[in-house]
Amino acid sequence: MSEYKFFEQVNKAFDKAAAYTKIDKGLLDQMKICNNVLHVTFPIERDNGTIEVIEGWRVEHSHHKLPTKGGIRYSMSVNENETMALAALMTYKCAAVDVPFGGAKGGIKIDKSKYSDREIEKITRRYTYELVRKNFIGPGIDVPAPDYGTGAREMGWILDTYRQITNDINAEGCVTGKPIAQGGIRGRTEATGRGVYFGVREALSNAEDMKELGLEPGIEGKKFVVQGLGNVGYYAAKFMIEGGAVMVGVAEIDASVYNPDGIDLADLMSFKMENGGIKGYDKATTLATNKQVLEMECDILIPAALENQLNEGNAPNIKAKIIAEAANGPTTSEAHTILKEKGALIIPDNYLNAGGVTVSYFEWLKNIQHVRFGRMGKRFEENSYKKILSVIETISERTFSQKELLHLAKGGGEEDLVDSGLEETMITAYNQINEIRKIHNVDLRTGAFISAIEKVGLIYGQMGIFP
Ligand code: NAD
Repeated sequence: MSEYKFFEQVNKAFDKAAAYTKIDKGLLDQMKICNNVLHVTFPIERDNGTIEVIEGWRVEHSHHKLPTKGGIRYSMSVNENETMALAALMTYKCAAVDVPFGGAKGGIKIDKSKYSDREIEKITRRYTYELVRKNFIGPGIDVPAPDYGTGAREMGWILDTYRQITNDINAEGCVTGKPIAQGGIRGRTEATGRGVYFGVREALSNAEDMKELGLEPGIEGKKFVVQGLGNVGYYAAKFMIEGGAVMVGVAEIDASVYNPDGIDLADLMSFKMENGGIKGYDKATTLATNKQVLEMECDILIPAALENQLNEGNAPNIKAKIIAEAANGPTTSEAHTILKEKGALIIPDNYLNAGGVTVSYFEWLKNIQHVRFGRMGKRFEENSYKKILSVIETISERTFSQKELLHLAKGGGEEDLVDSGLEETMITAYNQINEIRKIHNVDLRTGAFISAIEKVGLIYGQMGIFP
């Protein structure tokens, strides 16, 4: 297997797409590089009194829009190359879905399972302190969010630390994915998974494209396999099932399970909670390895764990017609080529998992506006609908029941508006990149890159270059 360098893989995809644009080579070079790369090391005292050195990174890839934005990952796989690649992907992803941020990413090289909650809090707070001191965080500078191994709890610690050492009226906007009580937004936790669902549903609704794949249009009854039942994988699976699809396989860190008749997600999750994994789940077959399920019969494969999961080794055996890249970089470029040759439709990460950053954008807007979405308009909308309904009642001589009135005269609250904004974003962006795909006869990944490069190139082209 060829040596895997994530940042180089991203740049390979960039170069392929850039060839379809008319942007100056110098500007393309500027677009590709990472503007700022911060490497930090700091000591923490462990619960047993020993001192340990922790290593972390924050990379700001592009400042064509401010702030820069990207998640923070806690994993032993974190390194500079990976963080640079993920930061670059953020730039292209934000541009592809018209979220006005530059790309960034951060990471700490730790195995979370080996630290107590208290130690993880210490690490998170000290990392934040380093970011503040080096000017790598702030509502107008660089705004982290959750990623693999982090969640609302860590984001809450980041905000609290930032607030303690700065004096910023917009402090809440220094990080997204926070708990609601600390300025988070309803719908952020499930946003990436929900966005994956909207993207897959949109692809499936295109009858012409589905005919090429030999699939009936529509999500109803489609069988899918998901790798990783974490934040993204769990919510993607949940919304896919609610939309009518059937989950036939799951891969987790300890095992993979398969049942062609369907797996009950809630039941599997409670088994996972009780047993710390999915191995031995007796309402499905436990396969020989945790990767084997990726090669099982299904219509849609959703890798939602880590990068490099679909590679030269397993791509020839993958049977899914649609690869829905919920994780970042799950398909190596070799695997991409193999899967394309097999006729699969790859819905790429640089579009499909943009739901998280889209709702992060809404959260950041809420924080810097200091007002919850829906607060000003919800009651006004409800009263207007009620007036219209009362006119309808008079004309039609029909009286609406209390239940009908509640349903028909509902104004948009925060969660409704967030979901609607997310749905609109994912649908519009899918159709944009699918159109580019058809114009240039390329794949969706290249289509998403072309769309992003053209948008970012336009801004770079207008920027002054100072000595
Ligand atoms: P998470 O930590 O919540 O979940 C990851 C899950 O994958 C865990 O359940 C873990 O046990 C499982 N896993 C790890 N290695 C595995 C393996 N080899 N095989 C099968 N399962 C494995 O992380 P997440 O936030 O869901 O992120 C998952 C991916 O989605 C990452 O690539 C991340 O960069 C990407 N992503 C996340 C977000 C977000 O909002 N959280 C947004 C965009 C992209």
